[in-house]
Amino acid sequence: MMLVSAKEMLTKAKAGKYAVGQFNINNLEWTKAILQTAQEMNSPVILGVSEGAGKYMCGYKTVVGMVNGMIEELNITVPVALHLDHGSYDACYKCIKAGFSSVMFDGSHYPIEENVEKTKELVAVCEEKGLSLEAEVGAIGGEEDGVIGSGECADPDECKMIADLGVTMLAAGIGNIHGKYPANWKGLSFETLDAVQQKTGDMPLVLHGGTGIPSDMIKKAISLGVAKINVNTECQLAFAAATRGYVEEGKDLVGKGFDPRKLLAPGVEAIKATVKEKMELFGSVGKA
Ligand SMILES: [Zn+2]
Repeated sequence: MMLVSAKEMLTKAKAGKYAVGQFNINNLEWTKAILQTAQEMNSPVILGVSEGAGKYMCGYKTVVGMVNGMIEELNITVPVALHLDHGSYDACYKCIKAGFSSVMFDGSHYPIEENVEKTKELVAVCEEKGLSLEAEVGAIGGEEDGVIGSGECADPDECKMIADLGVTMLAAGIGNIHGKYPANWKGLSFETLDAVQQKTGDMPLVLHGGTGIPSDMIKKAISLGVAKINVNTECQLAFAAATRGYVEEGKDLVGKGFDPRKLLAPGVEAIKATVKEKMELFGSVGKA
């Protein structure tokens, strides 16, 4: 199956009261683990690529080539969207040109007027090419230079303004943050989420920073219109812990345990287990 836009899978998810996971990829092992799990679970999936990860993987064209190759060689038949995560205006155009099927324009740091102008322009380009477009209102907190910012709450009227421009899905800050949540985190603002959903109707809403949000909050967020949930840090933590275990047990020193295909295998299994658990929690299993 070819890469698809995220529009159809998210429209179905919103109507069916479940969410599709966006799992960020970092390399071949990550991509393979996520695609294989999606196929096993018969779940639609969104592969997220940050600008930094895109650079690390030798550019967006390399990413597109790798993902398309794997979909063919692994006989992946579930819907897969390849999505730019938190893209700048320039990165959106680069990914569109490279063959991504979905992009996020993160204009949340621009004044709302400029966010609107740039989003409008990208809506037209994505529509013409059949891509899905995610926009963000209300910056999502997280660790920057060692300082953990608390997540902002989006203004529901601004959300409506951006939704009305014709974007496919909307990320609204509701107190969520990227990375690990601090011990004194206040939790998600369901009041904000409810107000945003009432203003934006059928628009699939996106929850960033899915790592460490308690399951009951995830379920409540889905019931209030969240149809896409981004998971990144959790797969990284699982991969690192499994790899650490392998090395600490000295397995790389036994026989051909140094072979990267053996050394990285426990990490791959840990990513698969994390993705499976999330797909079950989000309700996307069997929805391909
Ligand atoms: Zn994010």
